[in-house]
Amino acid sequence: MSHSSLSSAAAGRSPVLPGATLGVLGGGQLGAMFASAARRMGYRVEAVVDHADCPAARHCDRVHVGLLDDPARLVELGRRFAAVTYEFENVPVAAARALDGVVPVRPGPEVLFTTQDRGREKAFLVAHGLPCAPHSLVRSRDDLVAAVARTGLPAVLKTCASGYDGKGQRRIDSLAEIDAAWGALGPAELVLEGWVPFAGEISVVAARGLHGETFTWEPSLNHHRHHILDCSLVPSGLPAATIDGARRMAERILEALDVVGVACVEFFVTADGGLLVNEIAPRPHNSGHLTIEAAATSQFEQQVRAVCGLPLGSTTLRAPAAMVNLLGDCWEMGEPDWTAALAVEGVSLHLYGKSAPKPGRKMGHLTALAASVAEAEAAARTARRALARGAVG
Ligand code: AMP
Repeated sequence: MSHSSLSSAAAGRSPVLPGATLGVLGGGQLGAMFASAARRMGYRVEAVVDHADCPAARHCDRVHVGLLDDPARLVELGRRFAAVTYEFENVPVAAARALDGVVPVRPGPEVLFTTQDRGREKAFLVAHGLPCAPHSLVRSRDDLVAAVARTGLPAVLKTCASGYDGKGQRRIDSLAEIDAAWGALGPAELVLEGWVPFAGEISVVAARGLHGETFTWEPSLNHHRHHILDCSLVPSGLPAATIDGARRMAERILEALDVVGVACVEFFVTADGGLLVNEIAPRPHNSGHLTIEAAATSQFEQQVRAVCGLPLGSTTLRAPAAMVNLLGDCWEMGEPDWTAALAVEGVSLHLYGKSAPKPGRKMGHLTALAASVAEAEAAARTARRALARGAVG
């Protein structure tokens, strides 16, 4: 693209049009699915990654290895791009801020700053009157003892930074477990959260455009296993008031954070239908993967539209859907039986191209569409079971 069109994009208001080069920070499956949507729409995509052998590399025009910790080189590289987004929230904020000086980073660096630290995220929620679990910041063993006295037990101790999929978390059920929890996670900035006896977990994937317009997809009902998302179902079957409340709260959060892009808000639903915000991710989310097949616009196409300042697409659901994750565990008995899984009607396969199927590692997912969410869930689970039954090797 020409220098003049790049500077007008940097000025922030003109749309970045197909043909331009987009940068994505991070090389995982979310970057791969963003790149694939962007290239379908005529963009070039280059990813800034840790390893050349990553899921995004197979879908991008080019990858740049190892620049995330080098703001000066990153800024130099940023001049090639018309807009930059990211696919994980642990991008160094200093790097995102420096980059934002030469090319629009969307969502902006301050969104990253707030959401990559559980303590700052909780402070943001409290400051905006948004409900979340009772919690206290913990910096020492004494803080932890005091926090347990305030919050009560059971509780869960979490690292403020770099936690995902249950990593950096420790449940505390009795006073005798305090030392072990501190020993496992401290010394570090931590947050102690009261354990929420939730009736369910839902998430709302939402998008906000350059001019402040906000779209949300139907919330998905999420089931986790060992703290990792296992299955997402849409529609959630929850009462309309809960669904509307969650969608409105997600919109408020994107507005208050001034997000331009896609973000996901995860909620605990209490027995009386109340909502507590658990986490905000400033990027597409695993629970939104089913939008690829089930919605008029997928979360990844929407990310492209939002980041490029284009009109956002409809989030209407086309059919009830279920998504089940495929972890490395599926390879335990040998190569999974893909033929058996794909013989199940309505099922689509997504594999991320990761070479080493380690237990707990997200390798891919299956999405099923059907006439009802119960049938979609049954199809997705049947297909996943079929992988193991017919495994060869
Ligand atoms: P997180 O990484 O904070 O999203 O936690 C991963 C999963 O652990 C959540 O989706 C819940 O299933 C569970 N979890 C985390 N925090 C709590 C809590 N305070 N109360 C109950 N369950 C929790």
